[in-house]
Amino acid sequence: MPVARGKLEQNLQRIRQNIADACRRAGRSPQDVTLIAVTKSADLEGAKALVELGVTELAESRVQQMIERAGELNDWLAWRRGAPLGPVRWHMIGHLQRNKVRPVLEVASVVQSVDSLRLAEDINVRAQREGKTVDVLLQVNCSQEPQKHGCAVGAATHMAELICTMTNVRLIGMMTMAEHTEDPQQARPTFALLREMFDELRHHHIGGDAFRHLSMGMSHDYPVAVEEGATMVRIGTALFE
Ligand SMILES: *Cc1c(COP(=O)(O)O)cnc(C)c1O
Repeated sequence: MPVARGKLEQNLQRIRQNIADACRRAGRSPQDVTLIAVTKSADLEGAKALVELGVTELAESRVQQMIERAGELNDWLAWRRGAPLGPVRWHMIGHLQRNKVRPVLEVASVVQSVDSLRLAEDINVRAQREGKTVDVLLQVNCSQEPQKHGCAVGAATHMAELICTMTNVRLIGMMTMAEHTEDPQQARPTFALLREMFDELRHHHIGGDAFRHLSMGMSHDYPVAVEEGATMVRIGTALFE
């Protein structure tokens, strides 16, 4: 069932309010938290409505779906009447196979799911060929579940250092997914761990000024993630349900 526009607006308001409340509890500014809308559970009309409501940072976890969505939204943006909207920026948040790097870079502004050196290298080579620089986040398996993607906690620092030596990839932060549990408070140690690793890297000036994002928190646990320092929350279900 596609979500009605009024409902979408309500959901968006509630999420923004929850982010603001979490920021207040943590002594942070809501301006430092970007809402990234995950459109994998939305239909095209829902995605369009969201863009009209001013949400322009969108994410998909599958390459093919991101490419199709981006194409459809761009056509719509180009032809619609009224005040210009956008531009829409796409974040790739799902596991990325190395043979999909090329199509992803045609669409995505940010690749959040870099979890191996080889993937980072492939992105770097491709970006070099296209004469551009690609923003990436290092995905870390902080919850240490074997079935989760992301580099191992023990490998993350070294991997971040090596990514920072690549000329056409810019490491702008780190990303993680918490284990899904009944009580969102149980995600807190996972988020705190990423935050500690992030602080440690910044302390050593790895990544420089660009390295400033913590992408953590989904529909179920984003207030906790914001309390722990998230600068990007990736929300799907809570928007479109
Ligand atoms: C699907 C997905 C999300 C959003 O999940 P919701 O629970 O629907 O908010 C966030 N991050 C990643 C990596 C995802 O795959």
